[in-house]
Amino acid sequence: MQNLLPKIAIIGTGIAGLACAAQLHGHAAISLFDKSRGLGGRMATRRSELVAFDHGVSRFSADADFAAFLEPLTAAGSVLAWSPNTVRLSPQGAITQTLPARRQWVASPGMSSLGRAVLAHYQFDAVHLGAAVGALERQADHRYRLQADGQIYENFDRVILAMPPAQAAALLPQGAMRQACESVAMQPCHTLMLAPQLESETASTPEDAPEWDVALVDDPMLELIIANHRKPGRDRQRAIVVQTQHQWSAEHIDVPAAELGALIQARLFDLFGDTLGLSPKALAYHSCHRWLYAAAAKPLPNPQGFLFDAAGGLGVAGDWCLGTRVRHGFASGTALAAAVKTSL
Ligand SMILES: Cc1cc2nc3c(=O)[nH]c(=O)nc-3n(C[C@H](O)[C@H](O)[C@H](O)COP(=O)(O)OP(=O)(O)OC[C@H]3O[C@@H](n4cnc5c(N)ncnc54)[C@H](O)[C@@H]3O)c2cc1C
Repeated sequence: MQNLLPKIAIIGTGIAGLACAAQLHGHAAISLFDKSRGLGGRMATRRSELVAFDHGVSRFSADADFAAFLEPLTAAGSVLAWSPNTVRLSPQGAITQTLPARRQWVASPGMSSLGRAVLAHYQFDAVHLGAAVGALERQADHRYRLQADGQIYENFDRVILAMPPAQAAALLPQGAMRQACESVAMQPCHTLMLAPQLESETASTPEDAPEWDVALVDDPMLELIIANHRKPGRDRQRAIVVQTQHQWSAEHIDVPAAELGALIQARLFDLFGDTLGLSPKALAYHSCHRWLYAAAAKPLPNPQGFLFDAAGGLGVAGDWCLGTRVRHGFASGTALAAAVKTSL
């Protein structure tokens, strides 16, 4: 039987796209597109043979609406609560403050599992991964045609771009929405992932080091260090993720990531010596990832939290419409879905 629901394409399967798709489920036939091979966008997991790292989002908070969205995913064990022991470190690596425990969430077994859990729960009409949408065209009947990696997908009544502003601007026609996207600058950051060889664990490396889960660092280079293996639902093999300050990454944006990885690793060694078991000679895995669009320098000055042209049938959502966190991406995608629903 032919599906008589309106057809909506959602391009981008980060939390904004997933939230939007979930809210529109049942009201439209939804096709999801993402240029990556997996879902989740910056909620990402890098897997090596030995160990896995959440190299984007490390943990996230949720208000009541977001918690309600997460509820079936927590019931399925795909999202777990975590109240990390979070400390602040001096530039010499000494603990200067222990922050009050706050309930946060992680997807399990890796942050990228959230997208798969949403798919399992909602069962959308079509999911196209590894499908970079390169062009968006209006058909003669005013519906939309997309081109993604050499394929054509047609007859969409609405198209939603759930992605960072520069990437949305590249797909939008000239006009106010494109200008709004172009007005928001995103800042980069780098993430270094490190895992020691099992046999390198020595007497100088206490088994449960570090003694914290998350460390905020007062440092011009390092922003955050996360003991990935101490999150719930992970392997216990030590896996450390280090994030850099946006400003530092912006100043080093053209330096190859491998070179920066060595600098970040050396700084880490300055701070902790061998107490984390991460001496450069004893690593089982190390890799540095560059995030070009990590966080909005200043979010869109538009309190509704999305862009939508009802007559044109085009909408834009993303964390940068409201802030810099997962909860902002969720709120943006959800608010856009409500506006789209009333336009159907
Ligand atoms: C290193 C790092 C650490 C972070 N840590 C935290 C944290 O601890 N807590 C927290 O709350 N937030 C954190 N954030 C911020 C968080 O990642 C974002 O707020 C949130 O994930 C944004 O979701 P989104 O859906 O708006 O965008 P994204 O997750 O960026 O999703 C956009 C999607 O669009 C796809 N896409 C783009 N262009 C196209 C195209 N042309 N065709 C097809 N697909 C396309 C991309 O592949 C991507 O999957 C962190 C971010 C980074 C980079």
